[in-house]
Order: sequence, then C-alpha cells, then structure tokens
Amino acid sequence: MEAITHIIMGIFIQNLCFKYMVFPYNIIFTIIFAFFSHFIVDAFAKITYHTPEPHKEDKFWVVWHIITYALALVVAVWMMIIGMFLFYLLGAIFANFVDIWDWLILRPTQRKKQKENPESNWGEKFFIHPLIDKFRDKTLFWLPNWNYERKGIIPEIITLISLWILTVLFQI
Ligand SMILES: [Zn+2]
Repeated sequence: MEAITHIIMGIFIQNLCFKYMVFPYNIIFTIIFAFFSHFIVDAFAKITYHTPEPHKEDKFWVVWHIITYALALVVAVWMMIIGMFLFYLLGAIFANFVDIWDWLILRPTQRKKQKENPESNWGEKFFIHPLIDKFRDKTLFWLPNWNYERKGIIPEIITLISLWILTVLFQI
C-alpha cells in the first residue's frame, strides 16, 4: 500500500503501545509491531491499486499519487500542530522500515554493484518484500488481485479512514 497508509498504521500502533504499556515496553513494542504491520498491510495491498511500476502517462495514476503524498503532508502538519511530530516519527519510520530498507537502501546499492558487475546479484537475499509475497500467497491467496484496477483505491481509502478513526479514538 501507499506510504501514508503505513504511516497512519504506525501512529495508531504507537498510540496503543503508549496508552497501555509502560517504559521501555511502549518503545520496544511500537518498533516491533510497527515493523511487522508492514507485512500485514503489504499483504493486503493485493486488493489495492498498486502498479509495481510507475505510470506517469496515466492521469489517474498521477492524481492518486499526488493525493496520497498530499495526505502524508497533511498528517505531518497535523503532527507538528499537536506537537507530536518527533514523537510519531518512531511509529511512522518503523511502519515504513521495510520500504526504506528494500527501496532506499538495498536497491540503489544493488544497482551500483550491478553497474560494476552486471552479473552480480548482490543483496538479493536481504530483500524483505519477497518474504511478504510468500506470506501473502500462503494466507491471502483467495483475495482478488486489483493491483492494476482503479477500483483498488476504494479498499485503500476505506483502510485509511478506518485507521484514522481508530487513531483519533486512541489518541494519547
Ligand atoms: Zn512495502
């Protein structure tokens, strides 16, 4: 799913942990649960509009991505207004850790190595998303694949709104 969905999931988890746990468990479990929430959210991404490759020529794709990034900005501003920006970075970063690791750290490093040696498959076994794919195939094989279907934005919007309501309900 989109980064914004992972971010709100991370904030919701952090709210729960800080509401019901004492230090240092609140921090430790925010990290653990936020990290693993990525597996669950990404496994369900099968029924969301999520083309593996960018489609910058497709207006729908562009507008949808502008909306999700704008939402991330709105959430960031909201966190600043309530003075919790730095605090919520913990949940937000760990809920996105798998994407940061795979797409921002491993992939660019792998590309660099492949430029030097085209046969290199450096780092291949350290990617986390293949694990999520396996998890999805074992548990959510019955879900339809809407990755290329525009209606796939509906499950994501419903997920976002539900998570947002839960986040506000459990606001600390
Ligand atoms: Zn991911």
